[in-house]
Amino acid sequence: MSLSVPDEIQHYEKKIYDLRQLIEISRALNSTLDYEYLIQAVLDMCLAQVQTLRAALFLTPELDSDELQLVSGYKGFELNQEPESYRIPLESPLVSYFLQNNRSLTIKEVEEHVGEDPSVQIIRSMGVELIVPLKSKGKVIGLIVLGEKAVGGEYPDDERRFLVDLASLGGVAVDNARLYERATVDMMTGLKNHAYFQSRFREERERAVRRKTPLALLLTDVDKFKNFNDTYGHQAGDEVLKAVARVLIDSARHSDFAARYGGEEFCMVMPGADEETALEMGETVRKRIEEMTVEHEGKEMKVTLSVGVAVLDVEQDGKTNKTMIERADQALYVCKRNGRNQVRSYSSAPA
Ligand code: GH3
Ligand code: MG
Ligand code: MG
Repeated sequence: MSLSVPDEIQHYEKKIYDLRQLIEISRALNSTLDYEYLIQAVLDMCLAQVQTLRAALFLTPELDSDELQLVSGYKGFELNQEPESYRIPLESPLVSYFLQNNRSLTIKEVEEHVGEDPSVQIIRSMGVELIVPLKSKGKVIGLIVLGEKAVGGEYPDDERRFLVDLASLGGVAVDNARLYERATVDMMTGLKNHAYFQSRFREERERAVRRKTPLALLLTDVDKFKNFNDTYGHQAGDEVLKAVARVLIDSARHSDFAARYGGEEFCMVMPGADEETALEMGETVRKRIEEMTVEHEGKEMKVTLSVGVAVLDVEQDGKTNKTMIERADQALYVCKRNGRNQVRSYSSAPA
């Protein structure tokens, strides 16, 4: 490529601009481990960078899946089939091509390099113009597909290179977010696990102490659950625990989080909640469990729940998580001693 001096300057200025953009993008993508947020961010960044109105992502839904699936939240594409039917096996020639080649392909180039197969057909049917691989640690974990450019014409080479760079940053970020999710979520119930609870509870507690804002902790325990397991079996017990977890997740406000403290003991951390709000939440959850019926192998099963509540006491709780957890546990103990299926806070629970 031979350019005149002014053109050459412009060419390098553009390169510098693009690199700055990539640094900004990298910063934005690395600042969160929130999977859903990252997916939206990657799509938005593509739309903003290359002036197209259509962008979508295919991703492996689980870390060990053998196919890519269209992720909800796609932009601009009108699908003529159920979104769930847009799947691409990792073994397909299309994915294999991207495994070997770190570049983008236009739908025309796909014909030449990959040939025709069902995966190509499904992408073609969406009206895709450009496909960019999303890679992490040498694996294809997804594809970004883009529609035609809003201004018409082909995607220029520099934009295509930019998208491949963006996708390589996005791929690592999405992959990390998924690993983090797997490491912090209890697989059976979908609740955050104990390690996550301890670390996030500590953050919330320290923030509340610093800002002098309220913080509440609910500790829940299924009543007579050993008897339940003995009567219905452990598998039925698991179904009930999943249902109880669902109630906690659905009841939590946007700023709260629920976790599996251990076994059949769950908890909810409520930043900003005073004792009254926390007791109300406890009562909501308790009631919903009392009214809930879980079906398993034709049997209808019911359980009840006891809930202990503790609110932040700056004097006692400044240093460790332990003191507040202990108070919630003591309140729970009082519930158990007084007949179960109830909610008590430490302050109102008689010692
Ligand atoms: P209480 O009302 O005093 O809480 O009585 P309890 O029987 O629930 O109390 P305890 O702590 O003695 O027993 C808890 C039981 O929860 C024992 C254990 O088998 C059961 N459990 C713990 N984790 C799981 C699980 O993941 N699945 C099932 N099915 N049961 C579990
Ligand atoms: Mg227990
Ligand atoms: Mg129990």
